[in-house]
Amino acid sequence: MTAVREAMESGAISRRMWFYANYHCNLECSYCLTESSPRAPRRQLDHRLMKSLTRQAADLGFEEVGVTGGETFLDLALPATLAEMSESVPVIVLTNGTLFVGDRLDRLAPMLGHEISMQISLDSADPDLNDMARGPENFAKVVDAIPRLIEAGHHVRVASTGQAPDDASQEALCVLHRSLGIPDEDHVVRPIVRRGRGATIDGSIPAGPDELFPELTITADGAFWSPFAPTVFNDQVDTDLLVSRTVDPLSLPVQRLIALAQGRPTGSDVANNIR
Ligand code: SF4
Repeated sequence: MTAVREAMESGAISRRMWFYANYHCNLECSYCLTESSPRAPRRQLDHRLMKSLTRQAADLGFEEVGVTGGETFLDLALPATLAEMSESVPVIVLTNGTLFVGDRLDRLAPMLGHEISMQISLDSADPDLNDMARGPENFAKVVDAIPRLIEAGHHVRVASTGQAPDDASQEALCVLHRSLGIPDEDHVVRPIVRRGRGATIDGSIPAGPDELFPELTITADGAFWSPFAPTVFNDQVDTDLLVSRTVDPLSLPVQRLIALAQGRPTGSDVANNIR
């Protein structure tokens, strides 16, 4: 067994790798890790590089690739790229779900029939509470989009970010996602992490190397420790969790991540639910 597969087998590093496809976004959420907005620098990853690194990841033993941003689907070429990436490993793509209106839903057609899951953010069953963090009309757009995406044949998951909800609001959220066609196993709940805009939110939780599971994350600025690592604060990308400026060949940042991950305390990432 190679050192990479041994590290995955032992739980030292994740079997999933991430890409930050871009950093700009049509929204401007209050807890955004990356200070994304329509005005944010794009910091876009080249699609040929994403496809090449995905093939290398599969050869090294990675079993899944995640793609996040920014709003990933602002890039109209992304669906075809995701389809090609998913020929190597299953892909999960994160989106705010607000762009799939009219013929924009049809533009996702290249993804159909591929192992691609879309993970859409929806924080509360209360539209006002949801929109307070994510912007006006966000709730209405998302609950409209999810059933249409499922009907079109896409696999959809829901991610909810926020302070630990009380039992009643958690149950209301679960009733809602079930009514939209999302089963419980496709609903993830996450705390607000104290990085990016989340750094200024009361109740956000710390996220350093002791709290974050090592999950290699490739960005236009280099390779990082976790998808919660290449955050932006005061317009600057945080580099405290930078693993390597070099990302290609992929074996280099993978080896560096394994070396850094040796001997780290385990468990707080799971206890804090920030995987
Ligand atoms: S949290 Fe997501 S949807 Fe909201 S501004 Fe950031 S990237 Fe955009």
